[in-house]
Amino acid sequence: MAEKKRAVKRAPKPAAVEQPAPSPQKAGECADRSCPVHGEVRPHGRVLSGTVVGAKMHRTVTVVRMRRHFIPKYERYSKRRTKLLVHNPDCLNAQVGDVVKIMETRPLSKTKHFVVIGKMVST
Ligand SMILES: [Zn+2]
Repeated sequence: MAEKKRAVKRAPKPAAVEQPAPSPQKAGECADRSCPVHGEVRPHGRVLSGTVVGAKMHRTVTVVRMRRHFIPKYERYSKRRTKLLVHNPDCLNAQVGDVVKIMETRPLSKTKHFVVIGKMVST
């Protein structure tokens, strides 16, 4: 006698992550395959923010994030910083000094697995 297969109820898929609106001046012109809006890359995971401190590479910026590190002996915090290499799509074109919103994505290169999804403060 064959046992009845129980129907497995799956939780509904979470709603797609809201994509940033393309910037008006270059909408439709973006040929960047790794662009989160016009390309094939689908950002997911952590959403962070940081300041752009380097923009000399092609479609890549260096983003610095400051954090506090607690030192129990002195009961005070010291400043620590994390540098991330972040993909900078043509349509956003973040420059040094910009405060940007970044989101985790699949590895785009050996050291790059974040992409700029918006500017919070533009210089
Ligand atoms: Zn784009």
